[in-house]
Amino acid sequence: MSTKDYLEKDYYKVLGVTKTATQDEIKKSYRKLARQYHPDANKGDPESEEKFKDISEAYDVLSDEKRRKEYDEARSLFGGARPRGGAQGGFGFDLGDLFGNTGTGPTTSGTGERIGDLFGGLFGRRQAGQRPRRGADVESEITMTFGEALDGRTVPLRLTSEAACPTCRGTGAKAGTVPRVCPRCEGTGQESRNAGGFAFSEPCRECHGRGLVVDDPCTTCYGSGRAQSTHTIQARIPAGVNDGQRIRIKGKGAPGENRGPNGDLYVVVHVKPHKVFGRSGDNLTLKVPVTFPEATLGAEIKVPIHRGQPKTVRIPPGTPNGRVLRVRGQGAPRRDGTRGDLLVTVDVQVPSEVDDTTREALEKMSGSLGGDSVRSELIRMAREE
Ligand SMILES: [Zn+2]
Ligand SMILES: [Zn+2]
Repeated sequence: MSTKDYLEKDYYKVLGVTKTATQDEIKKSYRKLARQYHPDANKGDPESEEKFKDISEAYDVLSDEKRRKEYDEARSLFGGARPRGGAQGGFGFDLGDLFGNTGTGPTTSGTGERIGDLFGGLFGRRQAGQRPRRGADVESEITMTFGEALDGRTVPLRLTSEAACPTCRGTGAKAGTVPRVCPRCEGTGQESRNAGGFAFSEPCRECHGRGLVVDDPCTTCYGSGRAQSTHTIQARIPAGVNDGQRIRIKGKGAPGENRGPNGDLYVVVHVKPHKVFGRSGDNLTLKVPVTFPEATLGAEIKVPIHRGQPKTVRIPPGTPNGRVLRVRGQGAPRRDGTRGDLLVTVDVQVPSEVDDTTREALEKMSGSLGGDSVRSELIRMAREE
């Protein structure tokens, strides 16, 4: 079905029904006429055959709610004032371009139907340049607390996208007027330029490739046919997301053109640092103060975890400062439902002040350990070349 067909043929008249006819009325009328003009019943009559084809075509469109709507829209948009024919005697212009370019977002009008969608099927198939195009990917960013990132949450995101102007429905023309076929390119939107014996095709300078010119611009969008549309979506941020990670939310990007699929939304997540916990991949990290006797003699100590009661961790006797102990399953959640580990770094504390009893005990210990002997090996090795 071409644009020309839609604008030139009155399907309602062909089927002998009113514009407000119900699907039942359309079906009834079609059946009656189809029987009357069926080729089997009118053997060798070319006029009947032609008529039968017209009836079938009309029924094809009007019996399909979606196509009927497209048909009605196309005809009401242009009313009686039909665009001038192009070079081939048909319609050399392509509205799909106009609408495709402007229909990059949902309209704020009541119908909620994007002009690009509406006309994509109607006009879009006529040129290679009007093939379905995937909408652009959109990027947004959010900041979460450390705990929220570990637990995951649904966040509202305000997105701004370009949409068809709701006043002129993307045509760019003032209410009651229609765009005119561009005289320079005769509606093709392209003009050829000769360079070095080769002909190049480039967007028409007069209409900027639209194929149509607007004499009386829409007062809302000043003829651009575009408008900004802001909408809020709920984005699910999965548990365990890490700082700087990009979350892909499929199909929430810019709407596709000419019935192409929507782009994706990428949300870049910023995670605020936590006072005690850190992240290392799927693992959480934590530095735990341990006393010198605990590290030397061994101990069972309590360490905090994310959401829950502290866990008991065994410090083996003779644990050096900086040793990392692993608490399994207490890290960040992974996509597969498992969790990373909590990595506990032993931080042996050196007291800045000691009471007399402690001092006495430490002096005794110092004597038995003999400070010089621990360094003798170091001093010896330092002399080597
Ligand atoms: Zn407008
Ligand atoms: Zn032009």
